[in-house]
Amino acid sequence: MTGSARIPIIAANWKMHTTPGQARDLAAETVAAIPAHIRAKVEVVLCPPFIALDGVRAAVEGAIPLGAQNMHWEAQGAFTGEISPTMLVPWCQYVILGHSERRQYFGETNEQVHRKVRAAFAHNLTPIVCVGESLAQREAGETHAWVALQVREALHGIPREQLATVVLAYEPIWAIGTGKTASGPDANAVAAMIREVVASIGDASAAQAARIQYGGSVNGANAAEFLSQPDIDGALVGGASLKPEEFARIVGAAANQ
Ligand code: PEP
Repeated sequence: MTGSARIPIIAANWKMHTTPGQARDLAAETVAAIPAHIRAKVEVVLCPPFIALDGVRAAVEGAIPLGAQNMHWEAQGAFTGEISPTMLVPWCQYVILGHSERRQYFGETNEQVHRKVRAAFAHNLTPIVCVGESLAQREAGETHAWVALQVREALHGIPREQLATVVLAYEPIWAIGTGKTASGPDANAVAAMIREVVASIGDASAAQAARIQYGGSVNGANAAEFLSQPDIDGALVGGASLKPEEFARIVGAAANQ
């Protein structure tokens, strides 16, 4: 956040955890754990399972915006088991797209992520676009080239006004749910590179406005290492977001930068 007007954004990805009742309780506990003066400085987004969105919205009483964890690009149609942007709009302001678990287990491609990004913007949803390299790619020195390609293929052709609002989550796959993390400076170098790619697609001002999160085993103890980096504007949090006090520590670290 150094020298920039970007508001930090901490998003909770609850993945395939919580029944609707558990989600309501978790949402209420999460709001209670984060004091209002901290919420005024940091954008906090909760991304529960789809069927918990309604109950979570009631539980947070407008205090926290909500996001979905995935979305189809079509507004409606014969796509059994999918969910469309028009279905999400009443509940969500954000949507996580291209999470590595979607890419890895459900075969999502850069082209599909691109279609989803376009659909999100078309329906006034802000995409949180996830990118990141595997351990093999990191060890082969391919991190920057791979992540740059993911960003270019997700965002090509997106107008600069929309690029200025995009959220990108840099999540090294080997750091997700493993307890391993990149170092702060390493993660920042990738985030800075992502910002350059956004500038090359749009322009410098769009790139300066776009927010870039780090994700991968972020917790209350290590959050400041990432959030203090100049090109890292927040975090996408999985496991730790299921523990309200731990998640609140991450949000508190973002407020203190
Ligand atoms: C994630 O789900 O995007 C994530 C980063 O998970 P975790 O924090 O558990 O590594």
